[in-house]
Amino acid sequence: MIFYKTGEEIERIRKSSLLVGKTLAEIAKKIEPGVSTLALDKLAEEFIRDHGAEPGFLGYGGFPNSLCTSVNEAVVHGIPNNQPLENGDIVSIDCGVLLDEFYGDSAYTFEVGEVNPDIRKLLNVTKECLDLAVQQTVSGNRIGDIGFAVQKHAESNGYGVVRELVGHGLGRGLHEKPEVPNYGRKGRGHKLKPGIVLAIEPMINLGRKEVAQLADGWTIITKDKLPSAHFEHDVAIMTNGQTEVLSSFEEIEKVLKEKSN
Ligand code: MG
Ligand code: MG
Repeated sequence: MIFYKTGEEIERIRKSSLLVGKTLAEIAKKIEPGVSTLALDKLAEEFIRDHGAEPGFLGYGGFPNSLCTSVNEAVVHGIPNNQPLENGDIVSIDCGVLLDEFYGDSAYTFEVGEVNPDIRKLLNVTKECLDLAVQQTVSGNRIGDIGFAVQKHAESNGYGVVRELVGHGLGRGLHEKPEVPNYGRKGRGHKLKPGIVLAIEPMINLGRKEVAQLADGWTIITKDKLPSAHFEHDVAIMTNGQTEVLSSFEEIEKVLKEKSN
């Protein structure tokens, strides 16, 4: 069953989503070779609690931390650890918060130091996939239109689209109906209408689409061990029928721009 949200509920999800963006911006300041993902996790947990919210992932299904940190061939659900990030790595940082009874959930894949051009292109194309997905998230369209747009753009660049993990509805639950696959057929699937809130999260592999789970019971990696990228926005169709992205990469990208100057 899909829970359609009122305007007031969507505003609460927006607050949660924006706090996730602010948290990721704090992390953006600290990401560099030598920093561990566990240090980033600690920073995120403190920042979230300082803002009167709870980490959304900590304890969710038994997950041990506040962030999912997925390095290089890790696709999603990586567990923070003490290993220092290295120059040339990429790391998907996925963060959830629970604020005022509603979740926010957003992810950004960061470059660590100097990343090779092939990998940088993977990140750009994956972010473009997310933008194309948002463009398809309009009242009257269907879930399949979103997945089709992502799949087409990724595959036309020679990349693999992960099948086993999908985006999702978002609200009082971190993972609500409907599922939002990153592949699909135009005009198929559930019809989108006002009040729906979706966490859309393309997971795109430099190589083949196949993935496997590590023995830690969480981390998903690419079977060919080539890098994978992941970006996630929370998107609502407002009660007036307009689409709005509730989360934001603005502060993250401001930090990244300042760092590169
Ligand atoms: Mg997420
Ligand atoms: Mg999600």
